[in-house]
Amino acid sequence: MPPRGIEPRWVRWPPAELTTEAIDQTSRNNYSVINNYFEAHANQVKQMTSMLSGIKKLDHSKVPQKIGHVALVTGGTGGIGTDICKQLAQAGNKVVATHLAFEKDAAEKWRAQMLREGYDVDLVECDVTDYDSCHGMSEHVQKILGSIDILVNCAGITRDGMLRKMDENNWHAVLDTNLDSVFNVTRNVIDGMIERQYGRIINISSVNGQKGQFGQTNYSAAKAGMKGFTKSLARELADQGITVNTVSPGYVATSMVMAIEESVRQSIVDTIPVGRLADPAEIGRAVAFLASPDNGYITGANLAINGGLHMA
Ligand code: NDP
Repeated sequence: MPPRGIEPRWVRWPPAELTTEAIDQTSRNNYSVINNYFEAHANQVKQMTSMLSGIKKLDHSKVPQKIGHVALVTGGTGGIGTDICKQLAQAGNKVVATHLAFEKDAAEKWRAQMLREGYDVDLVECDVTDYDSCHGMSEHVQKILGSIDILVNCAGITRDGMLRKMDENNWHAVLDTNLDSVFNVTRNVIDGMIERQYGRIINISSVNGQKGQFGQTNYSAAKAGMKGFTKSLARELADQGITVNTVSPGYVATSMVMAIEESVRQSIVDTIPVGRLADPAEIGRAVAFLASPDNGYITGANLAINGGLHMA
């Protein structure tokens, strides 16, 4: 684009009808117009710089690079959540895992085992399907620990069945726990992240949200919805030092998958190019990677960890 005020004809330089002398003269005139433009522009830039100098500027280099952020993991006591907690703690973060109120005893036992293994993970009660519960939990954690810098939305359930046999409750339970939950928790965490101009949000989706799965219309819809949510929020928060990504595991060797009858499980494994289930630690490491302060340029992405089961 030519500088404003210069006619487009200068772009087609030189016009065919001009002699060499005329070109020289015109060229001098043209340079003078351009120089005047840049001088005026430089003055404008100086004025704007001085105007902006009083305003607090975003300086991502000031984001504390030391590890030691506060990480909240919903469903942190579950099969995959446990390894996410371990990997985040190993990276030096203060980790808090949520659990349902009626699972208090089991959660305490889980915490004791984590302590025995050397992971000092805190617990907080929360029902992710309930907005008020998420609000209260988020306020509590931020009051006690000062912030929530890393959020991992990992809580989830399945209620499988073909759509023609699926009852309304199983539809809503899965959508509430896997998708509405992401709104309920994230909505109550992002204000603090925006205030501090730093955050990492990682949503645990699923390969079945990408490829679909027989008997999982509810689950696949929720997990696919999570990806749309992630990409939209990533755009909203990209200039605030906050990244938002999904991790989509394939079949992971958690108690849920290990409970499947062995012959059926083997038939699932036979369809996985890598030839085995994922170790939960492989999901945990991917989450810790995305949660790292070093990875501020990965946002709106989906990290597929499915052993080649689905390549999109
Ligand atoms: P688990 O059943 O082991 O863990 C699920 C966790 O979610 C539990 O800690 C449970 O808490 C929590 N949870 C369930 N409902 C609620 C609720 N209403 N409020 C708060 N927490 C709740 O499952 P996985 O570890 O296997 O799965 C974790 C995530 O990974 C899920 O989102 C799942 O969809 C996803 N995933 C799993 C795969 C796999 O192969 N296992 C594959 C792809 C994705 P509590 O223990 O207190 O009930």
